[in-house]
Amino acid sequence: MTVMQKKWVDLHIHTTASDSLLAPQEVVEIAKECGLSAISITDHDAIDGFVEAKQKADELGIELVPGVELSVAYQGEDFHLLGYLIDYENPEFLKKINSFREERFIRGEKMVEKLNELGIDLRMETVKSIAGNGSVGRPHLADALVKEEFVHTYDEAFARYLGYHAPAYVPKKYLTPKEAIDLIHLVRGVAVFAHPGTSRSQQAIYDFLEMGLDGIEAYHCQHDRYVTTHHINLAKKLGLIYTGGSDCHGRRKGKILIGTVKVPYRCLEMLRKVKEENY
Ligand code: AMP
Ligand code: FE
Ligand code: FE
Ligand code: ZN
Repeated sequence: MTVMQKKWVDLHIHTTASDSLLAPQEVVEIAKECGLSAISITDHDAIDGFVEAKQKADELGIELVPGVELSVAYQGEDFHLLGYLIDYENPEFLKKINSFREERFIRGEKMVEKLNELGIDLRMETVKSIAGNGSVGRPHLADALVKEEFVHTYDEAFARYLGYHAPAYVPKKYLTPKEAIDLIHLVRGVAVFAHPGTSRSQQAIYDFLEMGLDGIEAYHCQHDRYVTTHHINLAKKLGLIYTGGSDCHGRRKGKILIGTVKVPYRCLEMLRKVKEENY
C-alpha cells in the first residue's frame, strides 16, 4: 500500500530585501528543514530577495514562486495585495517597483525628521545601516529606535511613534487597488488579497473583485481556523482561489514563522491554473 505524502507550501515570506531579518538563502534553507515543497518570497515593493534565493532553491530542490506584496489605500484604510507568478523581469514593472522603493526611502527620511522634531535624535544613517539594501519600512525605524535606546522594545516604537495614529507616522505613497491589480496583471501575475482577516471590513474584497481580483489569502499567521475557513468559503462563493502563507519576517515578529501555517500544495496549483487560464 502506498501512502500519499501530503505536500505543503508557504506562499508569503519576506526577506532582507524588505523588512525581514532573514536573508533569501536562509529562508530557502529553513523552508527545506521544514519539509516544504514550495515557497513564495513576497517582499514589500521588491523582487531582489526572490532573485537571490533562486540558486539555493534549485540546489535544495524547493519550488520558488516569484511574488511581491504591494500596499494600496482604499477608503481610508491600508490594504496589501500579493502578486504571484509575475514576469519579474518586465522593465516597466521593475521601474515601478524601484520608484516605490525610492519613495519608501524618502518617507523614511520624513519619519526621521518627525522624530527629530519630537526631540528624538535618530539619524537616517542608523536606519540605513539596519535596512541595508532592503526597501525601507517602519520595522527598520523601530529597530533603529530600539538600537539607540529611545524605546525599550519594537512594539513600544510603534505604540509611541510609528503606529498609524502615532506622531512620527508618515503614510506611504499608495497605489489605488485598481492600479495595483492592473500592475500585477500587466506582468501576467495573479492578484491575491493579503491577510483579509486583519482588515476592518469585508467590503473591500467585494470591491476589489470588481477590479479584477483573482484570489484571497485564507491561511495566514494572524488568521485562526475560523477566519481561515470563512475565507476559503468566501473565495469559493465568489469564484476566487485561496492561498496562504506565514508572512514570516524572521525574528522581527517574535519567532520564525516559516512553515508554521499549514498551506496545502493545492493552493499553488490553483495559482498556476489561474495564470494558465488568464494568459
Ligand atoms: P510599512 O510598510 O513601512 O508601513 O511597515 C508596515 C509593517 O510594520 C507591517 O508589515 C508590520 O510588520 C509592521 N507594523 C505595523 N504596525 C505595527 C504595530 N502596531 N506593531 C508592530 N509592528 C507593526
Ligand atoms: Fe512587512
Ligand atoms: Fe502584509
Ligand atoms: Zn507580508
